Order: sequence, then C-alpha cells, then structure tokens
Amino acid sequence: MRRPLIAAIALALAAGPVAAFAQETAAPPPVNATTQLPRGVVPSHYAIEVTPHPQAMGFDGKARIDLAVVEASDRIVLQAIDMKFANSRLVAADGSSMPARAVVDADAQTATFVFDKPLAPGSYVLATDYSGVIGTQANGLFALDYQTDAGKKRALFTQFENSDARRFIPSWDEPNFKATFDLTVNAPADDMVVSNMPAASSKDIGNGMKQVVFRTSPKMSTYLLFMAMGEFDRSTIRGENGTDGKPVEIGVIAQKGKVEQARYALEASRDVLREYNDYFGVPYPLPKLDNIAAPGRSQFFSAMENWGAIFTFEYSLLLDPAIANVSDQQRAFTVAAHEIAHQWFGDLVTMAWWDDLWLNEGFATWMEGRTTRKLHPEWDIDGVDAAYTSRGAMGRDAYATTHPVVQHVETVEQASQAFDGITYGKGSAVIGMLEDYVGADAWREGVRSYIRKHAYGNAVTDDLWREIDKAAPGKELMQVAHDFTLQPGVPLIKASASCEAGATKVALEQGEYTVDRTGKAPLRWHVPVSVRGGDGNAVRVLVDGQASVTLPGCDAPVVVNAGQKGYYRTLYAPAQFKALSDGFAKLPVVDQLGVMLDASALAQTGQQPESDLLDLADKVPLDASPDVWQLVAGVLGDIDDMFKGQPERQAAFRKYALSRLSPKFEQLGWETRDGDSSTVKDLRTSLIGALSGMGDAKVIAEARRRFAASASDPAAMPPDLRRTVLGIVAYNADAATWDKLHAMARSEQSSMIRDQYYGLLARTKDKALAQRALDMALTDEPGATNGAGMISAVSWEHPDLAFDFAVAHREQVDKLVDTTSRARYYPGLGSGANDLAMVDKIRAFADKYIAPTSRRSAETAIAAIQTRLKLRAQQQPQVEAWLQRKG
Ligand SMILES: [Zn+2]
Repeated sequence: MRRPLIAAIALALAAGPVAAFAQETAAPPPVNATTQLPRGVVPSHYAIEVTPHPQAMGFDGKARIDLAVVEASDRIVLQAIDMKFANSRLVAADGSSMPARAVVDADAQTATFVFDKPLAPGSYVLATDYSGVIGTQANGLFALDYQTDAGKKRALFTQFENSDARRFIPSWDEPNFKATFDLTVNAPADDMVVSNMPAASSKDIGNGMKQVVFRTSPKMSTYLLFMAMGEFDRSTIRGENGTDGKPVEIGVIAQKGKVEQARYALEASRDVLREYNDYFGVPYPLPKLDNIAAPGRSQFFSAMENWGAIFTFEYSLLLDPAIANVSDQQRAFTVAAHEIAHQWFGDLVTMAWWDDLWLNEGFATWMEGRTTRKLHPEWDIDGVDAAYTSRGAMGRDAYATTHPVVQHVETVEQASQAFDGITYGKGSAVIGMLEDYVGADAWREGVRSYIRKHAYGNAVTDDLWREIDKAAPGKELMQVAHDFTLQPGVPLIKASASCEAGATKVALEQGEYTVDRTGKAPLRWHVPVSVRGGDGNAVRVLVDGQASVTLPGCDAPVVVNAGQKGYYRTLYAPAQFKALSDGFAKLPVVDQLGVMLDASALAQTGQQPESDLLDLADKVPLDASPDVWQLVAGVLGDIDDMFKGQPERQAAFRKYALSRLSPKFEQLGWETRDGDSSTVKDLRTSLIGALSGMGDAKVIAEARRRFAASASDPAAMPPDLRRTVLGIVAYNADAATWDKLHAMARSEQSSMIRDQYYGLLARTKDKALAQRALDMALTDEPGATNGAGMISAVSWEHPDLAFDFAVAHREQVDKLVDTTSRARYYPGLGSGANDLAMVDKIRAFADKYIAPTSRRSAETAIAAIQTRLKLRAQQQPQVEAWLQRKG
C-alpha cells in the first residue's frame, strides 16, 4: 500500500526463471506464523462466482474451495464478515457430498461449517452460496460514486489489505495461506470488469448482463485479490517479456473519458517494469499489469498493489493537463514505482504474517526512491530525498511510543496500525543504510536470491538477512540488521576531534537520541558510520559503543554520516560544530541538510543550543542550493509554529523570518522561468506557502489577485501555482470567498478537481467557516470518501474543534472511515493540539471506544502533545535571546 503523501520536510523536522503459476498443493503454514484460525485445514484453490448488485449495495456469491483436511475434525473454520450462507456442503474426492451447517461469529470474523461427523484427513471441496455487503469506504467490495459530464456514476472496487478479503470471499484470509483463484463475475453488459488476471472469456447471459471468467491466478495471498466493475476505458502498451516469455501487457484504466490522463503513468509503468525485471532477476510473473484509477480517497492509503491490478486513487495517477504540475508527475511516478515494486516484494514473496509487514513496505518505499533517482535524476539533483525519509522516521522513532521495525502483531487492528512511519520510513532508511554498508552489488545479489528462493511463498525477515549475509560475508550483517530492526529507537553518535601530529583523530561514541526520555540508558547498536575529512575521502567504521578514526590533515571540518545514509543522529562537540558551521557552504548539499536536520532535532531536545541552528540558517547565501533553501523555509516554519497562540512573541520572530526568506523569493518571483529545475519550482511554492503562512500581506494579496483574475484569465493561476494559490485563498477566506469556493466545488464536473475543492473548504483559518466545513463533511454533498478527509483537514488548524466535533458525531463519522483505521483516526485529529486538555480528551475517548490492544496511536498522539508543549517552553526563550543578540 502507499500511504497518502505528507510533505517530506514537514516529516523530517518532526538466478533462474521461476516456474509460473505453480499449482502444487499448499503446505500447512509454518508453525511460527501467527494465525487466528485452526491449523487443521489448508485451502489451495478458490473458485468464486459473484453477482454484484450496485444499487442494492449487496452481492451474491458462490464459492468452491479446494482444501486439505490435515487433522480430523467435525468443523471447518474460516474468515468471513457480514455474510449469509446457504446450501453449504462438503464434497469428498469420491464425489460424495455431506451438508454443512454454517455458524457465523461476527466478533471473531469467522464462519464455522459444522458437519454431523468428523472429517477424515484428505482432499475436499467446500461449496457454499453466500451473500455479502457493498460498503462505502475502502474495505472489502465498495462503491465509489462520482460526478461526470453525463451525471452521477457508481463504480465498484475492492480493497482487501490488510484483512478485508473476508468481506468478499469466505476464506483463510491471512497472508500465509496462499492459494490460486478462479474469479467469475456477472456484470452489466456495458461495464468493464477488471481483476488480477486477463479475462479468459466473456459471454452474454441475458437481461443486459454478461459473465466474465478470469484466468486462474498464480498462487497468492487473499489480500492481493482484486475486482473492479464500472464504466471504464482502458489503454495499453507493450512491456518487456514476462515469465512466460511473452510481452507483458501494461494497462491503465480510468472512468470513461479520462484514460488519456493516465498516459504518463502508463509509460512510467513500462519503464519501471523494465528496471525491476533487471533488478530482481526474475521477470514480472503475470501476463498483464493494470493500474486502475478510482475517484475519491481513503484516509490511510493512496494506492494498493493487488497483483496485476494496482488500484490508485485518481489524484495519485491521473494528470489533468489543466491543473497538473511537476509534483503531480512525481507523485504519479513514485506511487507507480512503489506499487510495482510490491509485485515482487509483497506479491511474489509475501511476509508470513503482519509482524514482517516492513518487508513489504520498507522495501517498496526504498525501491520507489531508488528507482525515481535512477530514472528521474533531474527531480533530486542533490540526492537528498533519502535523507528526508530517514530523518522523518527518526522524528517518530525517538518517542517512547515507537516500536521495532519487526514487531509482534496479534489483531487485525494492530496490523492496520502497523502501516506507519516506522514500517515505511525507518524500514526504507535501514535498507538504504545496509545497502550502503554491504555495497549495492552484494545487496542486489542477496535480494535476487531471496526472491528466487521464496517465490510464490512466504518469508520472514531473517530469510532476507540470510541471503544478504551470504552475498556479503564477513560484514556482521546479521548483527547490524538485528540491532536496527529488532529494537526500537535512534542511535546518537557523539563526535569529537583533536589534531595529533598533523592528523585528525576523531573519537566516536554511541548513545541514543530520544525526545521524551531524558536520562534514559541508551540501547546498544552496531552502527555503520562513515566519516569524511579534508581530503574528501570517507573512512568507514562499525561503531560498537566507541570507535576512533584518523583522517589526514587538520584543516577541514569533519563530517560524520557523510552522504547521510546512516540511520542515526550526530552530535558534534562544540569546536567541531563551529568548524562545520564556518565551512557549511562548502559541504556537499546532502551533508548540509543532514547537519541542519540533526542540529534542529538536537536543539529541540536541548542537546544543542538553538543558536547553532539559527546561525546555520542565517548564513545560507542566496545562491545556495534550492534544497538548502527549502530546508531553511522548513526550519523557520517549524519555529514559527512553536509560537502559535502567542501573537506578540510570534510577530517578533516573523519579522526576522520574513526578512530571511523574502529576498530568496524575490529572486525567484511568482512565475516559472525557462530552465527552472523541479527543485526550483518546489522551492518557489514552498516559499509562497511559508511567507503567506507567516502573514506576509503582499504575498497573500497577490494570491487573492491571481485567484480573482483566474475566472477570466486562466494564466493568472497556471498549474505550477494553482494548488498553492488556492490553498492561500482558502486558508485566508472570508465568508464570501468561502461561498465562492463552495460554488466552484458544486459546479465542478471533474471528480478529481471536485474532491480538491471540498478539501480546500476545510482548510480555512476562520473558525466559523471551519465549522461549516465540518457540518458539510457529514452530509452526502462532498461524496462518501471525502468527509473524513475534510474533518482531518480542519484539524490541522483547529484540532480541538475537529476532535470535539468528530467525537460528538462519532456514529456518523465512523461511517466515513475505513473500519480498521478508526483507532488511528480520532487520536490523529487531536494530535496537533497545543493544550494539555486534549490529552485527557484523547485518553477518555480511547478508554471508551478503542480496544486496549489498539491504543498505540492514541498513546502516540498524547506523547506528541505533552512533549511538544514541554520542549517548546525550553526552546522559545533561546530563540528570543538569539533574535535579541541579532538585534
Ligand atoms: Zn506499499
């Protein structure tokens, strides 16, 4: 899955072919994999026929499941939610049949088929008719309604990760129970029906209906099955050859009339597939790879890697020429790169259980970054994206409420909560560090061998380490990997240096970086550290407690974590930091960022003076890299946030911050210029956002002017500026402007743009207008999948208002949120609060409505509020003293 995009900077501050479609009998799951089902029965094949009734929001199904009974029992237990069963029976190998009584347990999410006598071990077919429910949120089979020129339409899609296939098929719905699938769908004759595999046949069955039979899937986990049905267009191109030696058909599917907007994603998918065929050393295993665009959104993911049929919300896939800019292109590319990486890491080889979810998500996140850098180097000229990913994860990992990358998961809700910044960001950062440590070639060799060995099967984390270790012997890979994945937290490397006989002796000592546990005894890691001195060469050392390295010469500053691949923070002794600060402009850009991000994090906890950070930000020259300016804007924006609710103190800081950022913005101007790189374009909009956010009247007035002018002159709000200008106008809206945006939302015929407008209505600073957005979120007007996002958007500026509203309307809001995500959603609304009263409110909510085993998100939100308020009180006087000194 791909999580919804959050601005990286905001996060950072805070060998041989594989046999195709092996149809072998499933082996029982390994005993060490968690399961919520009895182990005595193992499925191997599902033949499913479904007839959806979109208007009635229900469906009928027939299932025939090939299974092996390995332990005698008078019952078969599988998973099912909201299903009714009829005509259930078990057919033995000799054709004899015995009836079964189906007993549903809603709390356990199971259906038990009970027989009159125990079943002897052997092969059987469990056959049953059943009916199920079509939902309005992305769990199981769900409907999305959307606006078009030709009126309102409804399309159906499925979303099964992590545990919702059981809403569509009575099944052993756990990743370790892999099986093959034959799907048959009875659909309106004019609809397109899509699944993981190409259709084998389609025939008219009368009454305006057709029956589409899909080819047998490879052996795979239930959560990867997919079905969509609606008025779609499809466009295809030829990809490289797949496992069967034939070209893979690459396709994009979108609502009728919109598929051309997916052309960019289509071509990107072809390029990415070629790259992965090479990287993984195993060709893409299916005959086709579709990417299906869907209107609307989910609070918790933007795309899903169903094997051969990736699902992506329109905003992450389609490029509408009227509004698309380079960041939309980047998103379409990186989301596709992420989901296509899963076709191997996740789909071909799947984690045995959710404990190892990071194998899927950490790897896909790392692969997405690697592939984007390789195929689009122009988007990240300074190579800084990975540094932001790792620092973003550290922001979360430094709290007591963090967890190890590999963590034990017991319940469905816990699995849902595992899709977080540690699993994705830290997972990716640790892979980046280990690849750098063992070398890219050895890493890839290990990955290839892991994929080969576990293809069509399941694996645990140590299976990967074993293969990497073999490819890079003598590196203590297991030790380093275990240190960073089995225990939580962020190492701190303290560095000091002395000049001895014309050489620099650097002493390194490992501690732990934490934001909410001062005085904590540090955990111990073996940390691969890279140190660079004056000759530009980096020396590598594995720091186990303490280490020292000697570098030639004494003149140049020492850079620890050179290249910023290491997952740790660096605290320099004052003399070394001063030398770095003095020579800051001469450092490689990625190290400038690393030094500034660590200084910011260490200033936050009081381990480094705030003045170190402000001095750095203060002397960045106008001609510094746009990436560095981007960070300066982020650092100043963070400090500005620290003064929220204290207008006078904030005004004093803003005076400085605006004077620091304005000259850079004046140099860039409002309009895109020929030859602007994507980083310059990003910086321009970031500066406009930062300046307007800090109340720059001129910038706000110009944004308003452009918005007003755009009604008659589209050039006033070109795609590069559109989102930024609309954001400023909405945030600063008065009632008349808000009404105007509302009218634009109502009359908009493009589902994607319409969704954007409703999001904007919720971004307003004015409390009364924010309340109107909240009220609207509960109505049918914005569309069933937009309401939760609107409430969430209100919470950015008004956390108390949004949280209180959602709690007061809990039953209505619950219907707007994916079921397993509710335990995360509500605490998230309050997490930005600057008032300790919210701590009690979140706690009271959790006690009442969140299962004790699912309270990590609530605890995380509580810790974030408490720690932020405490650290702020320490930081603010330091910032003010620095401002005074500066005069
Ligand atoms: Zn993913």
